Amino acid sequence: MNILSFKIRQPVALVWKGLKVFFFEGALSVIQVVKAFTTQLRTKPLTAAPPANVQLSLNKTCNLHCTFCARQTKQVRDQLANEKTLIMSCDFLEKNRDLFKDADYVNLAADGEPLLHPEIKKILETIGAISNKPNIIFVTNGVLLTDELIELIVRMKIMEVHFSIDSLRKENLEFVRPGVDLNQLITSIERINLKKREDNSEFPVLVLRPTFISKTIEELPSMVEFCHRYGFRTILVQYMQIYKRELTQYSLFNCRDSVRKYIDIAHQKAYELGVGFTLDTAIKENENPNIEHLHGTLERMEKPKIVTRDLKVKDLLKKCTLPWDFMLIQTNGDVYPCCNSGYKLGNLNKESWENIWNGPRAMELRKKFRNNILPKECVDKPCGIGKSE
Ligand code: SF4
Repeated sequence: MNILSFKIRQPVALVWKGLKVFFFEGALSVIQVVKAFTTQLRTKPLTAAPPANVQLSLNKTCNLHCTFCARQTKQVRDQLANEKTLIMSCDFLEKNRDLFKDADYVNLAADGEPLLHPEIKKILETIGAISNKPNIIFVTNGVLLTDELIELIVRMKIMEVHFSIDSLRKENLEFVRPGVDLNQLITSIERINLKKREDNSEFPVLVLRPTFISKTIEELPSMVEFCHRYGFRTILVQYMQIYKRELTQYSLFNCRDSVRKYIDIAHQKAYELGVGFTLDTAIKENENPNIEHLHGTLERMEKPKIVTRDLKVKDLLKKCTLPWDFMLIQTNGDVYPCCNSGYKLGNLNKESWENIWNGPRAMELRKKFRNNILPKECVDKPCGIGKSE
């Protein structure tokens, strides 16, 4: 009886197994294929509309020698000494007009001070005339603002000017930004406001962008009052990145209670005075600080890692979509998807922006992102999206 039932059961089990593989696993693989296909349809395309954010790294020169600036480290000084193009040539601006005309932001950034670019007036005039809407923003230490530049900035409807003023106290300002005269900056700010009133213009919007250390964080509430007094629409509160070991004592990480206290007081004051109040993400993390993030810049500076492999990152498109939105143009015309990534897309002195933006390198990058593969050029970068260990 047992032998007979075994003889019957064995072929039935085999047939059942075959059917199971054919129907269930087959069906499962069909489901997987359909799912992958629909995900592909839902996901971002390999080609992209013109970038909403364009950043021009105008120059790698500066008129100041700020204590905490990365430019004061031996590593950056050595890099700059070997850099062939410290100042961007502006020949490609006219040739690539369409890149600027509908962008939401054209950020005139610099690894230094943008107003030190010898052709800054021409750059502001050219892009200002091309753009269909106010879209130029730049960050400045304000020292080089002249009446002529102020007139131009208001006339060209520059969208935003961000002032890096880190302290309102003479001794603190002298420590952080030696040689800067606060009264001179205030005079320039008042001239901008006067010109705006004369032209009946809301542009440029003024943003105060102080970067705090443990010695200056208690000034935050008075900085909000300063914003109110001098017509700054917003204060953008930033934490000072530390690039030198001997300066780590000034990291905000060392005074988290004070950071919380002065942020709360300043936030309330900003609300009462109608000043916009925005916190740098690293400061937000100070509530639950991540030492690695706060001191990561120092580690990267002292021991740069060479990354040789791409990295699998779950849900990458939820973490970064810059390859679809952002174009950084370096002083030598090299194009990158952001300020951190070393993934070069092309060079604007050799190709048009259209050919670069939807060219093979850009499409390959987007394909990797869609497949949750972070290219090695984006690994171990300050964005923190992919770490090699
Ligand atoms: S370096 Fe970071 S932020 Fe920049 S494109 Fe790569 S993942 Fe995005």
